[in-house]
Amino acid sequence: MRFDIVTIFPEFFTSILAHGVMRRAIASQLVSVETHDLRNFTHDRHRTVDDRPFGGGEGMVLKPEPITEAIESLGIAPKSTRDTARESVILLSAQGTPFTQSVARRLATLDRVVLLCGRYEGVDERVNILHCDRELSIGDYVLSGGELAAAVIIDAAMRLIPGVLGNEASSAYESFGPAQSELNAQFSPEHGAPPLSTHGSGGLLDYPHYTRPAEFRGLAIPDVLAGGNHDQIRRWRRERALEKTLRNRPDLLEKAELSQEDRRFLRSLQF
Ligand code: SAM
Repeated sequence: MRFDIVTIFPEFFTSILAHGVMRRAIASQLVSVETHDLRNFTHDRHRTVDDRPFGGGEGMVLKPEPITEAIESLGIAPKSTRDTARESVILLSAQGTPFTQSVARRLATLDRVVLLCGRYEGVDERVNILHCDRELSIGDYVLSGGELAAAVIIDAAMRLIPGVLGNEASSAYESFGPAQSELNAQFSPEHGAPPLSTHGSGGLLDYPHYTRPAEFRGLAIPDVLAGGNHDQIRRWRRERALEKTLRNRPDLLEKAELSQEDRRFLRSLQF
């Protein structure tokens, strides 16, 4: 899979791509990430990428010509004939649809993703109309540029590409993961199914994790985790995931796959 980033700050990505999972994925050639300096697609002495907004108002706007030339230099199909099951051109924007784990899962199935980083007041809207398949926002706040958003999207999508984490179950059995029924179909014991004491989050938040030492600053790990009873551990983890989701992200419960037992447990928390 290949990511192309169009930006006025290509050097921004140097350190992000040089660490941890991203570095390993690139080194093992499962993924490539190319940055493209927008100023290389200008033709004036000052390498101008922005101009004042029509209609007046604050700030500057990224001009359409350099971004269009940058996109056209990438060898990606024009929007009218693009196969969006393989390639996608994405505009990073606070006005975009929310970037979620399920969008990351979908991006991880593509061959090519082009990410356009805005700056200043944003990008001339004709770039969006002419070239982009979607606008994505990484959250309800305004960043000063699309670079951090691009890095977030690449990180989240890249770790879902088969082979990048080594064990595919690691990225499936975590917060916002697919439903347990989907996971059961995907992971048989001989294909990396996790220990019996784990379960898919099914769209919930992950359960809390503990490691050694068993006691730290007067806080002991929950007894059940040391007991070795996989069914009890599984139930304990499920309840903690439900509890945490109810407390921090109750909106997720509306879409989560919940058993009768889960619902009974949630009701017991609410009274
Ligand atoms: N005038 C824009 C607005 O009010 O929506 C904000 C422009 S922002 C200062 C500059 C650039 O940062 C945007 O063009 C976009 O590329 C990026 N950006 C800002 N917030 C973002 C977010 N939440 N998600 C993705 N990109 C964002």
